[in-house]
Amino acid sequence: MPVDALKFCSHCGSDRLAFRVPDGDMLPRFVCAACGTIHYQNPKVVVGCLPVWQGQVLLCKRAIEPRHGLWTLPAGFLENGESLPDGAMRETLEEANARVRIDALYTVISLPQINQIYMMFRAELLDVGFGPGAESLDVRLYDEADIPWEALAFRTIGRTLRNWFLDRKQGAFPLRLSTLERRPPPPDLAGAG
Ligand SMILES: [Zn+2]
Repeated sequence: MPVDALKFCSHCGSDRLAFRVPDGDMLPRFVCAACGTIHYQNPKVVVGCLPVWQGQVLLCKRAIEPRHGLWTLPAGFLENGESLPDGAMRETLEEANARVRIDALYTVISLPQINQIYMMFRAELLDVGFGPGAESLDVRLYDEADIPWEALAFRTIGRTLRNWFLDRKQGAFPLRLSTLERRPPPPDLAGAG
């Protein structure tokens, strides 16, 4: 499991960090040999929403890496001291200058390989006065038929959108809980070395 490597103890400044299983624990952690502090690392929450205006979905074209130039729903890392709905609203304002009313939580996707959890809400766009924020090249409303499926930034976004269009046909939006494992290599590369 990948971890963020620590160089220095944030408690005492020592560089004498060992990656080992502390007494009584089950998993390896960075443990400071100088002061004994155990540095626990836990997944980060990515929060966002699926803003809808008259049946169309708001997408943002990314102006930042990773996945520069690809399309996404407004989403980003939850900040300390922030509720999930507030985080979704803030990301939508930052990336799309868009005001939304946050509705129910819709997709929760675990990404254990990169230590992230996506939490996406359904949302209603309150007006069409949106436009690209600093992290976006473009912001547009899309009909289902025009969604740029081949140019989406993240699998979590594709999964959320596919679920939403299917659920819309059924007329109900139950919470969709899932896990995305690491993508297997494409067939033409499998066994190539
Ligand atoms: Zn220390």
